[in-house]
Amino acid sequence: FDRRVFNFAPGPATLPEEVLKQAADEMLNWNGLGMGVMEVSHRGKPFMACYEETLSDLRELMNIPDSYAVLFLQGGAIGENAAIPMNLMPLAKNGPKADFVVTGIWGEKSVKEAAKYGQAHVAASSANTGFTSIPDQKNWQLSDDAAYVHICSNETVGGVEFQQVPKVSKPLVADVSSNILSRVFDINDFGVLFGGAQKNIGPAGLSIVIVRKDLLGHAMPITPMVWDWAKQAESDSMLNTPPTYSIYLAGLVFKWLKRQGGVAAMEKQNIAKSNLLYSTIDSSGLFASKVDESCRSRMNVTFYLKDEKLNEAFVEGAAKQGLMNIKGHKSVGGMRASIYNAMPMAGVQALVEYMKEFERGC
Ligand code: PMP
Repeated sequence: FDRRVFNFAPGPATLPEEVLKQAADEMLNWNGLGMGVMEVSHRGKPFMACYEETLSDLRELMNIPDSYAVLFLQGGAIGENAAIPMNLMPLAKNGPKADFVVTGIWGEKSVKEAAKYGQAHVAASSANTGFTSIPDQKNWQLSDDAAYVHICSNETVGGVEFQQVPKVSKPLVADVSSNILSRVFDINDFGVLFGGAQKNIGPAGLSIVIVRKDLLGHAMPITPMVWDWAKQAESDSMLNTPPTYSIYLAGLVFKWLKRQGGVAAMEKQNIAKSNLLYSTIDSSGLFASKVDESCRSRMNVTFYLKDEKLNEAFVEGAAKQGLMNIKGHKSVGGMRASIYNAMPMAGVQALVEYMKEFERGC
């Protein structure tokens, strides 16, 4: 291609063009230092200023109260799947235990990892629907003695998203990897929000943990130092060298988000983008969605072709037009268009035009 394409990849994912241009401009000489940001000390004044500003922009964008710590870590959401039980399960009154509401494969992975550290009780699961729904909260079998309740707010593979944050009596722990900053969250509804940055924020390598401060300081003695949230909170997340370039780029994305009008403006745009795609799917004779209408993801729109034989031609034809990475995850099949904040409306419009054209040709 001699131009940028529309990249519908689920993560790492497309980033705002103006952010990439700024990063390119600053690559060799950042802030007149005569060096790039990747080459400077994480403890030096220039990087610390960038770090503090990135942190405060995130706090502003998500309206994070002072009673929550924000950690910039590594190891991705998969790493946090181990860190969470190590840090929080000791809060359970009868031995390490947590409840899980499983709505997709990422939730399943969280259960498996947590079970290494204590009892990982599945309070509800939509496995019986092929992860196309969210179990009604009335039927959740929550335990009295769990330390927390774990959900995945947006299942990236299945395309299933909680449209309301559930209210539970225990701290709610949410994997927000694929919908952070895409919709307004009231942070007070959560004990912990965590996720990798490589979808709605920036390059891979950075993971973000937002944790209510009273939940810090209870980690199991076996907890590795870098996974101990209290220790990381005490040292500005710099117990070891942080992913400096990823933090810098996240900072550029946060500034971009502020210029777009912040999270509420993004949410409006994300509703418009996903509505356009779902209404095209619903009004078509060729495409269909398996996901329950009440929990269709605004970020990862999964759909399939009623005639599976056409899958390959559909994906290839899309790629020819610069509509890339629309093939669904192998465990689900079909198609998936990931339309994070940085995917412009023009990208979704181009995809919708292509879908209509493809159907007309059938
Ligand atoms: N949770 C969700 C919801 C995800 O989408 C992903 C990545 N696709 C993960 C966890 C795993 O994240 P990481 O690769 O950052 O460990």
